Amino acid sequence: MCGVFGIMGHPEASRISYLGLYALQHRGQESGGIAAVDGGAMFVERGMGQVADLFDEACLDRLPGRSAIGHIRYSTAGSSKLQNAQPIRIESRRGAIALGHNGNLVNAEALRRALEDNGAIFTSTSDTEVILHLFARSQEETVEDALVDALGRVQGAYSIAALTPTQLLAARDPNGFRPLSIGHLEGAWVVASESCAFDLIGAEFIRDLEPGEVIVLDHDARAEGESIDIVAAGAGGAAPGYVSHQPWADRARKSCIFEHVYFARPDSELYGDAVMGARKRMGLTLGAEAPVEADVVVPVPDGGVYAAQGYSEATGVPFELALIRNHYVGRTFIEPRQSIRHFGVKVKLNPVESLIRGRRVVLVDDSIVRGTTSGKIVEMIRAAGAAEVHVRISSPPYVSSCYYGIDTPRREDLIAANHSLEEVREQIGADSLAYLSLEGLRASVTGEDESYCVACFTAEYPTPLSDDLSTQMELFTPAGAGPASTPR
Ligand code: AMP
Repeated sequence: MCGVFGIMGHPEASRISYLGLYALQHRGQESGGIAAVDGGAMFVERGMGQVADLFDEACLDRLPGRSAIGHIRYSTAGSSKLQNAQPIRIESRRGAIALGHNGNLVNAEALRRALEDNGAIFTSTSDTEVILHLFARSQEETVEDALVDALGRVQGAYSIAALTPTQLLAARDPNGFRPLSIGHLEGAWVVASESCAFDLIGAEFIRDLEPGEVIVLDHDARAEGESIDIVAAGAGGAAPGYVSHQPWADRARKSCIFEHVYFARPDSELYGDAVMGARKRMGLTLGAEAPVEADVVVPVPDGGVYAAQGYSEATGVPFELALIRNHYVGRTFIEPRQSIRHFGVKVKLNPVESLIRGRRVVLVDDSIVRGTTSGKIVEMIRAAGAAEVHVRISSPPYVSSCYYGIDTPRREDLIAANHSLEEVREQIGADSLAYLSLEGLRASVTGEDESYCVACFTAEYPTPLSDDLSTQMELFTPAGAGPASTPR
């Protein structure tokens, strides 16, 4: 759960990055940073906390230049501390490089052990640093080839932006687990985890990066491959061009469906689909699959809002915003300690009694993970005088942990993994409970059935998960001879 941003060829690169990160803040609130290059020199500012608190005018003034990348982080691998904040910047024999990464590598531990056995010194516990070590050790000549070499040796999920004094590189793993899009702003190229970042800065959305695609942007306008011919209009010189590579032959799209269910912002365009449209369709399908006699449909904000609208439309039961969210409280899951999580629900949501008293309520939420939130909310709705509380969830039972970058508790803490539907209903105290079917969820998003990762609902993981020590064998073979994916 992180967000990445990058811009090349804009006179206010770091300020635009700051705004881009602002729009991506929902993807992580723990730490953030921006790296910028100016005349061959690289500058990095990182810190703990949210974008608005991290950067001020003076800080952004320390990030001059026409190219920058930014990152915001919620830790899924590695703990929450400043050393793990990104972008991570290193010096290599190819010069300086800074890297921001969204996603989780599944073989990072084994690679790290192998690297450490061979003398590598790590400065962080984040899996992202593994990529940089592999990059530094690569025998390939150019930055782009060395990065591709490094990425070929890792497995799992990555959407990355990397910055060197002359280039900005963006890449999506061969399964395309996490989103990454490219856009255009006043003669500059921008990349961002979600298109809502383009909206804020006034950039034009061009397209998603393809799974396995590596894009190289530099100041020499190279027009090859899939380059898009856009006339440069920016102040201060020509727009850099970009070159697109597809270095891996074995690509199979497995985009995270949970981004659509919960994680992405509803105003983003994700995998070719408007997120809010997909959420509404989930609600429409849920209404058709699991209707109930009731007086009012109430969303759990913010995640349940569009699904509740769809549910209301499908069933004819009126929609009311009867739970009010305090927007000045962070998401409950940002506080990883169970004791604070309980507290967070009470602080975050308050029911409007006049809309609830004496009524049969359908409560619509996007997911039940541990089950603690739903239980507290059902309790609150009852305390506000509801006659009945029916819970409808716009995704299937969440039964298995994510290893690709969504922060999920261990399997033993996932309520649906360990309890029947009836047991979950009883535990959360609802009069009835129904989830959207997997087929219903798939029908609500565009794309082929097979093009989404649905492992959190099925426990069928699209890649091996084992942190297999055999990777050690591959690590020090000559470049190109032993990467995890087949290079083309
Ligand atoms: P709980 O069942 O108490 O774990 O909380 C589930 C609620 O948290 C749902 O309403 C979701 O909107 C939200 N949520 C979804 N995914 C996650 C996640 N990975 N971590 C924390 N909260 C999440």
